[in-house]
Amino acid sequence: MPEQEIVLKQEPGVKAYNSESPPSIGLKAGAFAEVGTLILTNQRLVYVSKGGASRAAAWALGGALTAGAIEKSVSKAELDDLMQYEGSYYVPLQEITRVETARKMGSAYLRVDNCSHGQKPSRSYILGSGWSKNEDWVNAINSAKTELLSNQNASATGFLPPPPPPPPEHAPPVCPSCGKPLSYIHQYQRWYCYKEKKYL
Ligand SMILES: [Zn+2]
Repeated sequence: MPEQEIVLKQEPGVKAYNSESPPSIGLKAGAFAEVGTLILTNQRLVYVSKGGASRAAAWALGGALTAGAIEKSVSKAELDDLMQYEGSYYVPLQEITRVETARKMGSAYLRVDNCSHGQKPSRSYILGSGWSKNEDWVNAINSAKTELLSNQNASATGFLPPPPPPPPEHAPPVCPSCGKPLSYIHQYQRWYCYKEKKYL
């Protein structure tokens, strides 16, 4: 895994749902939604919930992330610090199994499935900026994942020591008097030294 975590994409004002699609509008979808910022790094998909007003002040700590600093390097500690807020979480890119855009009751949303242990298997997001951005997110997440996996493969082949050599052929015993390898003569079932032309 690359040492440096880089923010590739982020979007504030994202409503997140712990289900494969947002609840229908009739159920007052907004009432059940967390509103926060979706952040894609080169290692994971992060959702930071801003929660209520009390949390907004603490959120200012993450100002570097909210300033639209695309391609900004962030420390793992910075993101982990944001992760402490209730409703916040992240999914490692290699555990994202599917990303797609979909529509329900006229609103477009982004669906992200994962295989992470202890996570909701599917989550959905409604982005404030509209349908076209959903496609951008699908592409960004998929390409970040592809790149992460190919980096891992590259480092696996680049830095691992070469595999051990195959086990040597069973070495023949050597002649006790001259040290040359002996040959086993099946016909007589004896070891023979060709150098000295004698059986043991
Ligand atoms: Zn010999």
